[in-house]
Amino acid sequence: MLKIKNIQTYYGNIQALKDVSLEVKEGEIVTLIGANGAGKTTTLMSICGITPPRSGEITLDGDLITGMSAEKIVQQGIVQVPEGRRIFPDMTVLENLEMGAFLRKNKQLVQQDLNYVMTLFPILEKRKNQLGGTLSGGEQQMLAISRALMARPRVLLLDEPSLGLAPLIIKQIFDILKQINKENNTTIFLVEQNANQALKLADRGYVMENGRITLVDDADRLLENDDVRKAYLGM
Ligand code: ATP
Repeated sequence: MLKIKNIQTYYGNIQALKDVSLEVKEGEIVTLIGANGAGKTTTLMSICGITPPRSGEITLDGDLITGMSAEKIVQQGIVQVPEGRRIFPDMTVLENLEMGAFLRKNKQLVQQDLNYVMTLFPILEKRKNQLGGTLSGGEQQMLAISRALMARPRVLLLDEPSLGLAPLIIKQIFDILKQINKENNTTIFLVEQNANQALKLADRGYVMENGRITLVDDADRLLENDDVRKAYLGM
C-alpha cells in the first residue's frame, strides 16, 4: 500500500536519511524503532511531504506522492499524529476534533466519526467543552489520535505516542490503536523509542540506525532478536 523506495532526505547539507526503503501493507501495523536521532521523525516528515526527500520515491497504491503538497497527501488518506501531540491548546476538545475534519464536506459522516472517537475515548466526550491545553498528557495524546481519525485516514502515522506517558496509559492507547486497526482496517505506521510496547503491538518492524534501515522482520521475531534485545529492550 505505502511504499518507500531508496529515499534520501537532507536538512541543508546534512543527510538524515540514507537510502531508506520500507513498505506498509494494507491493514498492517508496522513500527519503526531506533535510538534518538536515528531518523525516525524525518522518515514520517518525508512521507507527509513536510521534509520531502531529495531523491527516491514514495507511493500509495502505486501512485507517486513525492512532490505533492502536505495538504494533498492528507487528502490521499495519509494522516499524521505528530510528536508532542501538537493539539490546539486554546481551542476546546470539540473544536480540535472539528479541525481534523476541515477538509471533509459530508457533515453527516463527520458527525458519525465524532461519535465514534468519543466511544473510543469516552473521556473526550466528558471534556468536550474544555480547552485542549487543560488536558493531561494522556488525554492530549487521545485527542491528537482522535483528531487524526476525524480525517478518515487510510494510513495513520504516529510519532512516539507513548512519549512521557505512564505505562498504564500507554497500554490503554496501544490497545485502542489495535482496535482502530481491526475495526476500520486502518493501516498503521508507528514510530517509537518504546521498542517493547511497539513490537508487541505491531505485525512487523524496522530498525533504524544513523539514517539507515538495518533490520526488518516480523515483530515477534524482533522481540526475540539478541541485537534488538541488547540495544532497544535493555536486556
Ligand atoms: P527523535 O527520537 O529524537 O525524534 P529521530 O529518530 O526521530 O529522533 P530525527 O528527528 O529524524 O531522529 O533526526 C535525524 C537526524 O536529523 C538527527 O541527526 C538530527 O539531529 C537531524 N535533524 C533533525 N531535524 C533537523 C533539522 N530541522 N535541522 C537539521 N538537522 C535536523
